[in-house]
Amino acid sequence: MEKPNSLKDAYGLHWFCRDLRILGNAGLEWNHREFHGRVLGIYCWQNAESSSEGYPANQNLFLLETLAALKSELEQRGSGLLFFEASPSDAFKQLLQKLEGRRLPAAISWNRCYEPSALRDEEAIRELLTARGIVPHSERDQLLIEPHEIFKESNKRQPYQVYTPFRKQWMKAFQTGDVTERVARQKKALRRRASAQADFGLTGPELLTAPFYEASSQRLANAIEKLRARVSITLPSAGHKSALLQVKAFAKSLDAYHEQRDIPSIGGTSRFSAYLNNGSLTIDQVIASYDLGAAEEADSARHKFFGELIWREFYYYILSRFPYVELESFNSRYRSMRWDNREDWFTRWKEGQTGYPIVDAGMRELLETGWMHNRVRMIVASFLCKDLLIDWRWGEKHFLEHLIDGDPALNNGGWQWAASTGCDPQPYFRIFNPELQSQKFDPEGLYIKRFVPELMHLSPKRIHAPDKKERGSRYPLPLVDHAAQKPKALALYKSSGTLAK
Ligand code: FAD
Repeated sequence: MEKPNSLKDAYGLHWFCRDLRILGNAGLEWNHREFHGRVLGIYCWQNAESSSEGYPANQNLFLLETLAALKSELEQRGSGLLFFEASPSDAFKQLLQKLEGRRLPAAISWNRCYEPSALRDEEAIRELLTARGIVPHSERDQLLIEPHEIFKESNKRQPYQVYTPFRKQWMKAFQTGDVTERVARQKKALRRRASAQADFGLTGPELLTAPFYEASSQRLANAIEKLRARVSITLPSAGHKSALLQVKAFAKSLDAYHEQRDIPSIGGTSRFSAYLNNGSLTIDQVIASYDLGAAEEADSARHKFFGELIWREFYYYILSRFPYVELESFNSRYRSMRWDNREDWFTRWKEGQTGYPIVDAGMRELLETGWMHNRVRMIVASFLCKDLLIDWRWGEKHFLEHLIDGDPALNNGGWQWAASTGCDPQPYFRIFNPELQSQKFDPEGLYIKRFVPELMHLSPKRIHAPDKKERGSRYPLPLVDHAAQKPKALALYKSSGTLAK
């Protein structure tokens, strides 16, 4: 048996989680430096295909296709990716078993994640590796500023609960030398990416020729094939290269972002979310690509866009600091809400058959494309909670099932914002009127016509709230009367506040 972990031929493993790219990957770069490029990747797929209701097939297929692109890039550079269908603990145990009699990796690196389950996984892996004499090493990658780095100056133990002061503190951290340097490094890497392959050569350890490497490749291919048979929507092109093409494409629209981002019929937003969520793109790469750090406040487009990326960091901060939000309302006042929770209404909402054209267009966009415009996400979420009086957690789950960009922190933040139960939410008495929202943000009805063809014949004036005749036999009458539901919603929120006292 070889002497384990002798310096000669030592190699590292990089455990990919939500950092599915090579370029500017902090953990992978550390490993690359330590072992002179002798690094192999590993991925533990916990969400294996299942027939259970609510399985997020779209998102998982996008994830697997991203992994396939990453694996092919790693192999082109002389390394590879081991794929396990197991939790990280089980996968690493299986791997160590397979390595019996072979050289063990000297170190395992990864980039930190922030959801409660990910933190538990990391802790378990750290213990397992330390017990086997393998060095665990983690880096920051997914967020630009990590949750523990932001605290109130007046009281370091008290986390922020409101976005604006969080953003101010975040900007202070952003302007420190360490962060500016990281963004500058990404910028340099992006500029030189044409020659990056030569700069970042990898050599896979001999494990690449082991039969279990071949078997793991086959598992990934099989998993993709199985999911492809189940997914009916067209996914965006996956992987880091596709993400960078999207960065290039969006450069043309960035200057109009502040004016167009709320109009769902226009492709005025970046469409980065699915890439950001699995780490085939990072926030620092986006900031570096558009020089957002140097944007003046007067540059409304860049300022607004930068602000949305900080919202993303805010919701991760909230999930990390208040992990209970995964299961219940951030605001304890709204934990005893007596929602109506009518199953038949929920089904009509999910199917885009509520009789409110803008709501139905949004819900159908979700089913048909696996994505929904942010303005419409807000409208349909408000409608579910404040018109249909259904628990926001039902909607949160449905979104996660269908969204390609489904993300536990952002989805929870968005839902709790719309339901007025979260931190820094929309006040509970502010209830979106779907007809007015529709007139304001889809004035010509172009978005509605794209997803609700039954209303194709209607004029911009009539399309937002058609009468019975205009709906014809194919489009339903409104499920509820918005004006009548509003006082019921107000009473529901008020009584919950009283019950909590
Ligand atoms: P752009 O407008 O181009 O924004 C750029 C990036 O900024 C986005 O990719 C995203 O990372 C971040 N961002 C934008 N808007 C928000 C926001 N309101 N909150 C936090 N970060 C933001 N986003 C997800 O990625 N996954 C989800 O599961 C998710 N669920 C949501 C549920 C509800 C009810 C609501 C109201 C919002 C949700 N969002 C979610 C936030 C937002 O709708 C999407 O990030 C955005 O629509 C993605 O499109 P884009 O990349 O073109 O966004």
